[in-house]
Amino acid sequence: MHGGTGSTGPVSGSRTSFESEQPIAAAKTSKVYHLRVDDIEVEVHRKRIRHLYLRVMPPDGRLRVSAPFRIGDDSIRQAVERRISWVRRQQDRQRQRERESARSWVSGERHYVEGIARELNVSTHEGKPHIGLLGESTLEMRVRPGTGRDERADLLDGWYRERLKASIPRLIAVWEPFMGVTVKEWRIRKMRTRWGSCSVRNGRIWLSLELAKKPMRCLEYVIVHEMAHLIEPSHNRRFWGILDRHLPDWRARRDELNRFPIMDGMD
Ligand SMILES: [Zn+2]
Repeated sequence: MHGGTGSTGPVSGSRTSFESEQPIAAAKTSKVYHLRVDDIEVEVHRKRIRHLYLRVMPPDGRLRVSAPFRIGDDSIRQAVERRISWVRRQQDRQRQRERESARSWVSGERHYVEGIARELNVSTHEGKPHIGLLGESTLEMRVRPGTGRDERADLLDGWYRERLKASIPRLIAVWEPFMGVTVKEWRIRKMRTRWGSCSVRNGRIWLSLELAKKPMRCLEYVIVHEMAHLIEPSHNRRFWGILDRHLPDWRARRDELNRFPIMDGMD
């Protein structure tokens, strides 16, 4: 977001700090205790520090707040409330990551393609590996016997990449004349914490491979967002004005992007 690099969507770090202007409150004698804010359990750690820190902890996404002794619980609650959508996004992301690490790329698992959950059906054959959509709800994968989990995962990633490669240049070509910018280069990267980023100096945008799992309108939002950075690198009033003008429903698309699960559980 600085130095000519923009990023889309969620805060990329998992840590944030606050200044508190609250008066000194009675310090708790216990150093670690719990508070509840909305449906979120907050683990409060009292420390000799100057600022308040919020951190969503892996692997289960519990919220830890490190707070100076002088800040009251009400102020901690307020700080959490102010950042509650950020906390939820971080929690969702970590829980997704957990679920994903439990995946095996076997028949019966659900995998998303362009926003639609499909059931993976893995079968073996002796020819070249093949992946394709079958009907409304199946994702077919045919592999040679003995193809391992990581190899199946890589095959699916490669297939996702090919799909993005087909969509991205078409979307860029549609938006370039509208926005009056030129994308000199674009790349797909395996990124976990960002949907996209850009290098203003090189006129280059990077898009997350995960976008292949999202609805096309979300992919389009990320592309337009990154192209807008080629006009205005910062997330300032001018930047959001560019998005408002070109993609008036960008907020709905962004929310959908951050709400939609990357992968579903194995229920
Ligand atoms: Zn941005």
